[in-house]
Parts: sequence; C-alpha cells; structure tokens
Amino acid sequence: MQEFKHFINGQYVASASGKTFANRSPVDNSLIGMVHEAGREEVDAAVAAARAALAGPWGQLTQAQRIQLLNKVAERINERFDDFLEAECRDTGKPKSMASHIDIPRGAANFKAFSETLANHPTEAFRLDTPDGLGAVNIGHRTPKGVIAVIAPWNLPLLLMTWKVGPALACGNTVVVKPSEETPATTTLLGEVMNECGVPPGVFNVVHGFGPNSAGAFLTEHNGVNAITFTGETRTGEAIMKAAAVGLRNISLECGGKNPAIVFADCDLEKAVEGTMRSAFVNCGQVCLGTERVYVERPLFADFVRRMKEAAAKLKPGRPADAAANFGPLISHEHRDKVLSYYQLAVAEGATVEIGGGVPDMGAALNAGAWIEPTIWTGLADDARVVREEIFGPCCHIRPFDSEEEVIALANNTDYGLAAAIWTENSSRAMRVAEQMEAGIVWVNSWFLRDLRTAFGGAKQSGIGREGGVHGLEFYTELKNICIKM
Ligand code: NAD
Repeated sequence: MQEFKHFINGQYVASASGKTFANRSPVDNSLIGMVHEAGREEVDAAVAAARAALAGPWGQLTQAQRIQLLNKVAERINERFDDFLEAECRDTGKPKSMASHIDIPRGAANFKAFSETLANHPTEAFRLDTPDGLGAVNIGHRTPKGVIAVIAPWNLPLLLMTWKVGPALACGNTVVVKPSEETPATTTLLGEVMNECGVPPGVFNVVHGFGPNSAGAFLTEHNGVNAITFTGETRTGEAIMKAAAVGLRNISLECGGKNPAIVFADCDLEKAVEGTMRSAFVNCGQVCLGTERVYVERPLFADFVRRMKEAAAKLKPGRPADAAANFGPLISHEHRDKVLSYYQLAVAEGATVEIGGGVPDMGAALNAGAWIEPTIWTGLADDARVVREEIFGPCCHIRPFDSEEEVIALANNTDYGLAAAIWTENSSRAMRVAEQMEAGIVWVNSWFLRDLRTAFGGAKQSGIGREGGVHGLEFYTELKNICIKM
C-alpha cells in the first residue's frame, strides 16, 4: 500500500502523531494509499527548514544558478512524465488524454516560463534633482519575500501547485506546500525530483492534511511564513485572509468563479459550440475558469441548445487509461453530493433539464466511483441559486438574450469575476463587450488559451492580486527603493 509522507528538508517523514487518512480513487472508490496528516510539529519543522534554506545554500546561489536548477526540474518532470501522469490520474480519475496534454506538460513548463520572464524584467531607476545641484539616483531593487506558503486545490493539482512554486522559487523564495487532501500524489513526487536535480534541502517542503484545525490552518497561521498564495474556494480564501491578517502577511488569492459565455448570433457556430462544450465539461466541469452560465442571442438559441445537447450526449465517461474516454468522475463522493444537490435544486427552481441531471450507470466495476452525468439546463430565472452560485461540476444553464446591453448586465450580475468568453465574428463588438466584463480574464472566440506571460487572477470575489508573467513579481518579491545621493 502506498504511503504519502511529508517532504521536509529534503526527506520524506511520517507524522509524529501517527495520524493518517485514506486517499481513495474517484474512479471506483478503491484505496490508493494512506496520507500522513501533519500536526503543528511537522508544519513547524517544514517552515524552519524553509527558513534555514533561505539563509543557507539557496540564498547564496546566483539568479543564474537558481534558474539553471529550475530548468533541470522542468526537464526531470518531463523525463518522469509517465510517473506524474499515473499519479495524477490515479488521484483525480481524469482521462490520461487530458492530463498528458494539460496537467503534466504545464506542470513542467511552470518551472521554465517564469524564471526566464522574471530574470529578464528590469527594475525602475529615477534620477532626482537636489538643491545642492548634485542630485540623487533611486534604484528599485527586488529581494525574495521569504518563506511562501502554497495552499493548492485538487482540480489541476500539479499544474496549479507548480504555477505558484515555479515563480516563488525563481524569485529566490523557499516554499512549504499544502496540497489538497484529495490529491497528495504529484506534489509528494515532486520532492523526489527536487532531490534528483540537486535543489538544496528545505527549498521545497510538503505537508499533508486538511484545512481547518489541520495542516492548512497551521501553515497559514504560522508566524514563520512571510506570504501565502492560495487557490481554492472563495470562502476558504476568506479564512486564509483572516489568518494572514495576523502579522500583516501578504496574500495572493485565486478563488471561485461563475463564469459566463456570451454567444452572439454572428459567431462561428461550430467553434462556439466546441469551445463552450469544453469550457463546461472538460475535467468534469471542475475548472475554475469553466463556464456555468451561457447566454445565447435569441435567433441562435434553439439551434445552440440542440447542438450542445447532441455534443454532451457524445461525451464518453471511462477510466483514465481508456483512450476513447473523455469524461472522468468528480473528485469525490462528498463533492458529488454537493453537485447533485444543485441538480435537485435546479429542478426545484423550475429548470428544464435538457440533458443529464443524475448519476450514470457505469457498471459493477465503476458504480462505486463518483460518476455524474453532464447536465444542461434552460428556463431558470436570473436570481435562481443555480445561476448564481458556483457548482464546480459538469453543468451549465443556457439562456437567450436580445441585446448587447442586456447581456453585459446579465454576465456581470454575479459576485464572482474570474473569466468570461465571448463568441462573435465582429471584432469591434468583441472588444466593446470585453472591456465591460467585470472579470480578470476575457477570451474572445476561445477558452483556456493561456499565455503564461499574461496576468492571471480574478475580480470581485474571485480573488485578490495577479500572478503570471512579471505580475508575480509584486507578490513574490519585496521591492526596495535604494536612494543614492551623489
Ligand atoms: P478548497 O478551498 O476547499 O481547498 C483548497 C485548499 O485549501 C486545500 O488544500 C484545502 O485543504 C485548503 N484549506 C481549506 N480550508 C482551509 C483553511 N481554513 N486554512 C488553510 N487551508 C485550507 O478548494 P477546492 O475544493 O480544493 O478547489 C475548488 C475551488 O477552487 C473552486 O472554488 C474553484 O473555483 C477554485 N479554483 C480557483 C482557481 C483560480 O485560479 N481562481 C483555480 C482552480 C480552482
């Protein structure tokens, strides 16, 4: 049986308390292994190791040496691609066809993309006149922030964790990562890669466990942590913000969404259906950027709904290794209960269930897994909870609209502001509407087309701060102004 231990100061360690919890497969509920749950003792040790590494060999490396090591990490993840793929798909149940295109390659790329961008970014310099006529020079100087706590979710475990660890390390920080309790495997495996590449002990540490009264809370409350970067639910983000208030630690929060897609009648219909299908159903709908609200211009509405239904009916659930499968289970039974409660609520709120709405019969071998049907609704009121709350499952509500003004108001009628997708062949309209979206990321005629150099983050309750490209510098470094009098 596999055991998932903490990775502290370059070594795998068990919990002193002996406390463990089960990691189960969402595919068939079989036991994958036991995960050690960190207490304060392990979190203290991890933070102490991270702090020591800052002052030790890691802190003494040149930027070029650090970047060389991080490039090696990226290469090693690619060399061990199959190990990461296997581990990620076992934990999440997602199709290997997806993880091999998105999760693992991006997990590796995150160690390369940021180091190059950050290393080549200039800092500011200003010459200042002084009364004596000699002047002064101001130079912006960036230093690592220190020990960064990384709290990661389960939906894209390796990708979203390395998205933070890559830039954090590139900027010279050290990290303590708390992966989701649902998906401990790839983060644990990354410890091996760090050792294989010669990353000094203490630079990358991992503690396992849950949120409240467990590793997540112990880590975010720890006064040895200088800053906290978090991806997950908005309510958890609030708890982390409170923890960070003590000691005025910096936070970066990437939280939930209830993202709209706006489909104008002049769109390329094939592309709009294909893109909206992906945005609603890829990763079984468990993508923060995913679309749960679709607004379609009235002349296209009936045709669009029909095409979406036809495409959803063709989604093929199956085991990760099944090459024909493109639809995995939800992450857990607990999450399926939550999503199913919204399926029931939709009916209670008066939805027309166009397709899905329940649990599929997957046969004896898989029925114990967290499988669920892709679901499309129409006919809900704009204030229905199903239209307002993040469900994080494979479902969307489609509603007709009549004017640009109306649809902008509808799309923005949400507490969230992560992403939006606009489908139209009229580029001035695309720009006009995009500018009015209250969202951190807007795609026109695409979805999830990511350029790692660009800013990523949410407006409103979808988060605080921006990461990606040079934007991560604000969070991962301390900008000091050095003023030199001539
Ligand atoms: P979650 O908030 O339940 O958990 C995320 C992490 O926080 C886990 O590691 C968990 O153990 C930890 N945690 C929970 N409570 C904590 C506490 N009080 N203190 C410290 N840590 C705590 O989120 P999830 O269910 O894992 O992920 C799904 C959510 O993540 C969705 O809301 C989704 O929209 C969001 N998400 C956002 C982005 C983005 O970039 N904006 C990306 C992916 C997922």
